Amino acid sequence: MTKSALMFEEGNREMKSLLGGKGANLAEMTRAGLPVPPGFTITTQACLDYYRQNQQLSENVMKEIESTLQRLEAVSGKSLGDTANPLLVSVRSGAVFSMPGMMDTVLNLGLNDETVVGLARLTGNERFAYDCYRRFIQMFSNVVLGIDHYQFEEIIERKKEERGINDDPALTTSDWKEIITSFKELVHTEDGHPFPQDPREQLLRSIVAVFDSWNNHRARIYRNIHKIPHDLGTAVNVQMMVFGNMGEDSGTGVAFTRDPSTGENRLYGEFLLNAQGEDVVAGIRTPQPIRTLADIMPDVYEQFAATCQKLEKTYADMQDIEFTVERGTLYFLQTRNGKRTAHAGVKIAVDMVKEGIIDKETAISRVDPDQLDQILHRRVDPTAKLHVLTKGLPASPGAASGKIVFDADTAERWAQDGEAVILVRTETTPEDIHGMVASTGILTSRGGMTSHAAVVARGMGKACICGCEAMKVDGKNKVVTVEGITLTEGDLLSIDGGTGHVIQGEVPLIDPELSVEFQELLQWADEFRTLGVRTNADTPADVAKARQFGAEGVGLCRTEHMFMEVERVPIVQEMILAENADERQAALDKLLQFQQSDFRGIFQAMDGLPVTIRLLDPPLHEFLPNMEDLLVERTTLSLQAEVDHIELAKKDALLRKIRALHEFNPMLGHRGCRLGLIYPEIYAMQIEAIFLAAREAVSAGGTVQPEVMIPLVGHVNELKEMRTLVDEIATRIQAESGLTIPYLVGTMIEVPRAALTAEEIATAADFFSFGTNDLTQTTFGYSRDDAEGKFLHQYVDRNILPENPFITLDTEGVGKLVQMGVEGGRRVKPDLKTGICGEHGGEKASIAFCHQTGLDYVSCSPFRVPLARLAAAQASLQKKE
Ligand code: PEP
Ligand code: MG
Repeated sequence: MTKSALMFEEGNREMKSLLGGKGANLAEMTRAGLPVPPGFTITTQACLDYYRQNQQLSENVMKEIESTLQRLEAVSGKSLGDTANPLLVSVRSGAVFSMPGMMDTVLNLGLNDETVVGLARLTGNERFAYDCYRRFIQMFSNVVLGIDHYQFEEIIERKKEERGINDDPALTTSDWKEIITSFKELVHTEDGHPFPQDPREQLLRSIVAVFDSWNNHRARIYRNIHKIPHDLGTAVNVQMMVFGNMGEDSGTGVAFTRDPSTGENRLYGEFLLNAQGEDVVAGIRTPQPIRTLADIMPDVYEQFAATCQKLEKTYADMQDIEFTVERGTLYFLQTRNGKRTAHAGVKIAVDMVKEGIIDKETAISRVDPDQLDQILHRRVDPTAKLHVLTKGLPASPGAASGKIVFDADTAERWAQDGEAVILVRTETTPEDIHGMVASTGILTSRGGMTSHAAVVARGMGKACICGCEAMKVDGKNKVVTVEGITLTEGDLLSIDGGTGHVIQGEVPLIDPELSVEFQELLQWADEFRTLGVRTNADTPADVAKARQFGAEGVGLCRTEHMFMEVERVPIVQEMILAENADERQAALDKLLQFQQSDFRGIFQAMDGLPVTIRLLDPPLHEFLPNMEDLLVERTTLSLQAEVDHIELAKKDALLRKIRALHEFNPMLGHRGCRLGLIYPEIYAMQIEAIFLAAREAVSAGGTVQPEVMIPLVGHVNELKEMRTLVDEIATRIQAESGLTIPYLVGTMIEVPRAALTAEEIATAADFFSFGTNDLTQTTFGYSRDDAEGKFLHQYVDRNILPENPFITLDTEGVGKLVQMGVEGGRRVKPDLKTGICGEHGGEKASIAFCHQTGLDYVSCSPFRVPLARLAAAQASLQKKE
């Protein structure tokens, strides 16, 4: 039978799934002989048992808790409820995966009307004892009985007003005693029962409350965001209290063994003198930097710093450590792998390889590709003139601009309406999590670098500034004042989480650059990956950027984007509206010039590497004006005093053409190779531009490998006919110039029939590129724009689909078609080149699938190329394992 409760000394760090992360690490520290207050862990198994018994603690579990508690009493030399020498404990959650601040905690448990007297006598500090008691009543009543915090705070505020004082420390022992009487009355009224005096009842009810908090709203949201299963349950840690609030020789703090924002190798953290645990994390008082501890308590600091280094070596990772100093004695309350920004994550991983702490494989697997978006985010243009309002603590890097909102619900609502918002608050609490998810940036006037806002923002990769004390936030009236300027809800504000600058209005942003460490990590990734990485890019500038990021070719150049440029649209329209072949050819000749120079630029930027160019894909009406706008224009024109009949006739012609091209389902309409087959002159122009550009590049001494790609093929005959067109033009241009241009002709596989008939299609193709955007649309029968706008998010919320299949490849359905396509194609042509160019080519889980399926490469947008390199390396390391 699995144990329901284990003393810290009985566990170790390998036992995370039973003891939770916190419990396993407390056990490990205890075994290593560090000063950890004694305690025990109630296991995740006990939590699951509790849920199986319809939220009841079973006899067995209660018995084990009792016997383990007795062992704690023996070790500590104190007893729960003993009026002479009372044991006080903390009760904290600790799940397998850390979920900071999401679940509940109760401190100072074991106090009642009698033990408080004992504590006062024992410590010789009556005021301290009653302060602890009132804290306990407040926390227990909130967590276990569900009574709102503010009701207690109001009682304290009233007392302070009555006494004409501002700060809690000015309250005397008798003030606290009176406050406690009012607290108990409040509890009696709200709960219908007196405040429980039996410490064992207090303990069991607190354990149950922590088990229940596994399923509270914010914890569920957090698990959804971080893809943590909902059925793991949490462990509960019961630990002897040590007190950071026993005077100026006591304190409590949080430290990271390296800077979680930049990754720099130095002890980083903060502490509060004369304070209890939650005060630091809650961000209620702004703490002091850890370095100042060296001046105040030099011995403690030295011991602390040395132990931190030891812990980092043991875990071979950056640690996030909670500690308390009680009357000059140091205690460790927690260590865990610290959350960090992507930038810091990369630096720490690379530095640790160089310091001999981890190997390259570990470094590669430790950086989450999803987090890289942060590094590749744009940042504030350093040359821009900014109206900096004030400066706060740079808690999480990145730049963000948006409209000010003061509460999480508004943040969520406005974000759903497509607004970028900055959440501005005094401090954040776990209840704000949905608003933080919805915001582009977070700004608080209080709290330090380890406050809730800072920790959560770093985990989410959002820009965040904390402790911006020059700023007065009035959430009730929705105004914030800073340096004499008043801003209200909806005003534009920017924050730079890297510098801590709060800036009025919107700011200009620039592209990111890769740090030396990041480039090094990516080079290591290249040593381990087998999957190629190309880019989806349509301009020479984008292609050059992607190459800088490590792209090994272009996997998709969407030529229609070149047609959309302002100066070209009228020519494209001329081509579409042409009344005869000559007119059409004249327009095509003009377009040819543009395309040729586009391709030349792209070939040069990718010199020596393959470039896949897709011929025109969207339906022609996308290049024509909107019919409703045109109707309005036509009506206005016809109502003028002097009607311009020539102009009116032009509008009518345009309207006729738009009507003729109108489609009921454009996504399934006259697009892709269906255009090339009906209007071969358009594709002919594009093919000609490709080979003329290639010829130019080769004549200039370059090396080109054009790959002409035919979109939306569903039947081999479509491809055969288009291939003939490509071969004819390529042969002619090579013959004219006497140059050899090695080229390939291939197809997108983006409708199910293409995958199902891959063997036939491969006879006419040199390569397959899976267009999983369209393949997902056509496999599910969803039009993406309609699905995402209407029902898809509900499908995901209600677990009908595990994820949005347009973001993460549906391996069971769409993936099966990809597999069939690859296998079918290779049966006919064993060396058929295969790749993916749908958006999934830049998503880590889909990349892993592509690796397993044996594709040759993935192709993604330039800014995702580094992510793809890393994810591809992780996929091949995983396969090895
Ligand atoms: C695809 O369908 O996956 C694809 C890459 O083409 P597009 O997104 O341009 O339709
Ligand atoms: Mg497509």
